[in-house]
Amino acid sequence: MQSINAFYQQLSTPSKVVITTHQKPDGDAMGSSLGLYHLLTQLGHSVTVISPTNWAGFLKWMPGANMVVDFDYSREVAVKFIQEAELLFCLDFNVLHRTKNMEPFLAQLACTKVLIDHHQQPQEDYFTYGVSNTAKSSTCEMVYDFIVESGNDGKINEEIAQCLYTGVMTDTGSFRFPSTTASVHRMVARLKETGFNHTLVHESIYDSFLENRVRFIGHALLNRMEVLYEVNAAIMVVSKNDLLRFHIKTGDTEGLVNQLLTIQGIKLGALVIDRDEERKWSFRSKGDFDVNTFARTHFEGGGHFNAAGGRTDDSLDATVWKFKKVIKQYAEQLQ
Ligand code: 5GP
Ligand code: MN
Repeated sequence: MQSINAFYQQLSTPSKVVITTHQKPDGDAMGSSLGLYHLLTQLGHSVTVISPTNWAGFLKWMPGANMVVDFDYSREVAVKFIQEAELLFCLDFNVLHRTKNMEPFLAQLACTKVLIDHHQQPQEDYFTYGVSNTAKSSTCEMVYDFIVESGNDGKINEEIAQCLYTGVMTDTGSFRFPSTTASVHRMVARLKETGFNHTLVHESIYDSFLENRVRFIGHALLNRMEVLYEVNAAIMVVSKNDLLRFHIKTGDTEGLVNQLLTIQGIKLGALVIDRDEERKWSFRSKGDFDVNTFARTHFEGGGHFNAAGGRTDDSLDATVWKFKKVIKQYAEQLQ
């Protein structure tokens, strides 16, 4: 993978571009993809954003979201765009399996591939150009750097600002995590110059759930949480029946795992959800407990130092049993 700096000159040649991101895109995945989309269309490229799967209802307000192709839902259309692409951008993920059913189609692609991402251990051999920086708050911050460093600061408009602000806000826990550097605040100041309404972005993301989702959170906290004080961990186990009973849709469980870390002394929060195709884990930690390594070692996953995910084909009971067993090895680290 060559440095992204070597790529910038290609931006002046209009191309057929596909931008993609990880399955079940979150605010950063969608925000960075759409932010880049609005830049590249201004530069005269023909751009399609393809998501491997559907996305949360609270992202549908984003400018351009209605143009995003859902690979799972519109496979034929998506495959045609992928096969005709001259340029592929991969944003907010760095290993192909995070694109689920799109993986075999991406793996075959011979076009120029560009990575912009902040997760650990990228699959570097796949990408022609790229930037991978785990110190960055969000992929949205990296798309902002891309725009500025490629000489396109003047193209930042209200739409780009709304998109990039969304991802930096969601990935920093609303400017709370240590990754929120002075540069992040400078970027936000620059975005504000476009006149976009950040209060509206916040409300669209965090205050737009249906009643059933709020009741589901109550149910999960009351009935599905277990605190393992001996290892300073809290676990939440959500069954298929819970998802059905509360009509849970993509995005409704976002942020739930963070609740576990609000308990005094708890250093590790683990949420597992019984999805149709797999059991999906979310891990969050405080301080020096590395959930990226933990997720990689035990649950086929990865992510960041303090926020990671994993998966398994095991049953819900079996994977919870495994978690409770392996976590004992870390009792000392979690003290
Ligand atoms: P979440 O718990 O919100 O789904 O994910 C937390 C972080 O870990 C995100 O940055 C996400 O991209 C990453 N992540 C989630 N699941 C996986 C996984 O299965 N593999 C890898 N490598 N990263 C993941
Ligand atoms: Mn991200």
